[in-house]
Amino acid sequence: CGIVGYVGHSDRGNSGHSALDVVLEGLRRLEYRGYDSAGVAVVSDGSIESRKKSGKLSNLLAELEEHPLPETFTGIGHTRWATHGGPTDQNAHPHLADGGKLALIHNGIIENFAELKLELVNKGYAFESETDTEVAAVLLGDIFRTRLGGGASDGGLTTAMQLACQRLEGAFTLLAVHADQPDVVVAARRNSPLVVGLGEGENFLGSDVSGFIDYTRRAVELGQDQIVTITADTVEITDFFGAPAEGKEYKVDWDP
Ligand code: GLU
Repeated sequence: CGIVGYVGHSDRGNSGHSALDVVLEGLRRLEYRGYDSAGVAVVSDGSIESRKKSGKLSNLLAELEEHPLPETFTGIGHTRWATHGGPTDQNAHPHLADGGKLALIHNGIIENFAELKLELVNKGYAFESETDTEVAAVLLGDIFRTRLGGGASDGGLTTAMQLACQRLEGAFTLLAVHADQPDVVVAARRNSPLVVGLGEGENFLGSDVSGFIDYTRRAVELGQDQIVTITADTVEITDFFGAPAEGKEYKVDWDP
């Protein structure tokens, strides 16, 4: 029930934040929302690396001790409150698609997941979890690869997210990263909260400002049916059809 995303600069040397540190700190701050599993993904050298565990964040931390992730500058993190599929490691987020090059996390419920899943199974896709979320991941991967040719041209992941969201019903905050666009996190929201945190040479995403309060107090609240693409230096908001849109900027004036 919590979501965090981070993009920084790759060339900040030791002064930059590690994506994993930021994301884990954010998940810890969001623990109050309740959850049954947790997971993270980082983008590293043209590939995605992910760890996920049912149970408390401490289980994920133990897993990360045993199987560490590299220091990177792009990452996403998730705490899950299971609605479709039990609270198992396999059903925990992130869910991978596009041959393991894309990772997606989701809070909410995709109401039309069953019909989308049938369509994707008929196209030859196999599924590894019982979640509604994995259907969104596979759909996004399919659009990125087969409709857009898998290139970063044509807006790449952002365009793919717009096209995917046009097909999704229900409530969702979605965050996606792709190995072919290592300096970008793309997010979308419908009937579920999403806030951008504006940093200097780094940007953040959270289900609420607690997800990044330790790093910045400048926040932009996304509106209904909006998509945001963040890099270390840019924040671009559109609607589900690619038309430019604006969020509501404000300053967080309370202490966590
Ligand atoms: N419906 C998704 C699942 O069960 C996401 C649940 C959540 O909001 O954490 O995996």
